[in-house]
Amino acid sequence: MADMLFPIELEGAGTCDVESLASYVYRVAYEHGIFVGELLRHINKQTSALTHLDTEAQPVPAFLKPAEMVRNNRSSAAIQGALEKLTGLELSQSRLLFMTSDIGRSPNEVAPGFRWCPECMSEWQALGQQPFFKLIWHLSAITHCPSHRTELISKCAFCSCKQTGYIRKRAIGFCQQCGRHLGTRNPDKLAPEIARSWEMKGADVHQFFVDMAQQPFTAELEGGIWRSLRDLFDHYWGNGKELELYQAFPRDEWISLYHKQKPVSFSTARRLCYGLGIDLYTLISGSAINSTQVLSQKWLCELPAGFCERKSRQKRNHDAIQSKLRRYLDPCVRPRPMKEVAAELNVSVGYLEYRYPTAVSALVKRHQSMIVAQRQRTREKALNSALQYFTNSSYSGYPKSRKQAYLCLREETGLPKFLLKGAIGEVYSALYSS
Ligand SMILES: [Zn+2]
Ligand SMILES: [Zn+2]
Repeated sequence: MADMLFPIELEGAGTCDVESLASYVYRVAYEHGIFVGELLRHINKQTSALTHLDTEAQPVPAFLKPAEMVRNNRSSAAIQGALEKLTGLELSQSRLLFMTSDIGRSPNEVAPGFRWCPECMSEWQALGQQPFFKLIWHLSAITHCPSHRTELISKCAFCSCKQTGYIRKRAIGFCQQCGRHLGTRNPDKLAPEIARSWEMKGADVHQFFVDMAQQPFTAELEGGIWRSLRDLFDHYWGNGKELELYQAFPRDEWISLYHKQKPVSFSTARRLCYGLGIDLYTLISGSAINSTQVLSQKWLCELPAGFCERKSRQKRNHDAIQSKLRRYLDPCVRPRPMKEVAAELNVSVGYLEYRYPTAVSALVKRHQSMIVAQRQRTREKALNSALQYFTNSSYSGYPKSRKQAYLCLREETGLPKFLLKGAIGEVYSALYSS
C-alpha cells in the first residue's frame, strides 16, 4: 500500500485562474512539512512501486525548475501523473497543455521562476483565501495581472528573493527569505505600473484561459492553428480577397506561416488574432473559419470584447463591501448564486468580478458544486423510492407497472417528472428484463 498524500485541492480548478503545477508541488511540499526535493523523491518512490511493470512510465525527476513543471513535457507529465495517483485529484489543467509542437515552443514563452500579482495576493489575504501562483502568470506574454492590471513581479519587493528555492520554511503567500507577505508593496519603491495597451493587459490571454477552462476535457489542440490558418487563407484567396488578409497580418508573414509550418510563437498567435478579430481559442482549436467575425467580413473594424477597456466605476465603500464579502467565503455559509450575493451587498455582479475576481471565482465554484451535489442527492432519492415501490412489502398491494409506480411516487415524493420516470425505468429494467 502506497503512502498517499493529503488530498490538497488544486486552487482555482475549473477556472481561468487555476493554480500552476509548480505552485501546487511547492505548496504540497510545505503542507507535508518537507522540502520540494524530498517530495519529488517521495512521489517517485511511491509511484515507481505502483508502475514497475509499466515500461513506458517516465520516472519523476528529482529536480525540475518551476518553468519546466508547467511546460508540456515528459517530466512535468510524470509529476502530474504521480501526484494524481497519490491524491486522487485531476491536475491536467495545471500545466500549459496548449503548448503543443505547433505553439509556443521557444524557451522564453514561459517566464523563468515564479511571478505573481501583489494585489491578488493581498486580496486573498484580506479575504482569508489560500494564496497560490496562477498558471497564467507563468506566461511571458502576461506582463500585468488581467484582473488588477498592475505589473507582475518575480521577486520579493524587500529582499529580492525569487521564491524558487526547494527549501520551504513558510507558507506560499510569504517570502521564504524575509517572511513578509508577497502582497506587501515596498513603500520605498516606485508605485506599480498600470497596463495601458491591450497587449499588456493580456485580456485576450485571459479570455483564452476562460475558454479553455470551459472545455470538459483537455481538448485536442494539436494542429488546430494550421487548420485555422489554411482555412482562412483558402477562404480569402478563393474569394479574391487576400488583400484584406494582408491588412490584418503582413503578407510575408502569412506566406511564411502558410508554407513553412514552423512552430508559431505565442505572441505571433496573439497578433494574428488581434489582426483578424478572432479569439485565441478559436484560432488554436482550428475553428477560425466557423467564427462569425470572419464570415461577417466586418472583422477588420471590430475588436473582440476582450480587448475593450473596462469602464470606470463609481466610488464605493470598498472596505465595508470587502468585510461583508468575506463572510460569504466562510465554508459554513450556504453557497448562493453571485446575483444574490451582489444584491445583498447592494452592488452589481460586475463590480464584484472586477474588484474581487478571486473571491468571485471561489464563490461561483462553491455554488456550482453545491448544485451538482443537490442534483445527485435528488437523483438518488428518485432511484431509492422507485426501488422501494417495486421491492418493499409496504407497496405489495400496488400494481407493478411503470405507470402506476409513477402516479403513486409522484404523489408521494413530488419529485420532477423526468427524474422519476428515468429512475422508475432504470429500476424496472434492472428488475424485470432478462
Ligand atoms: Zn491581480
Ligand atoms: Zn523577502
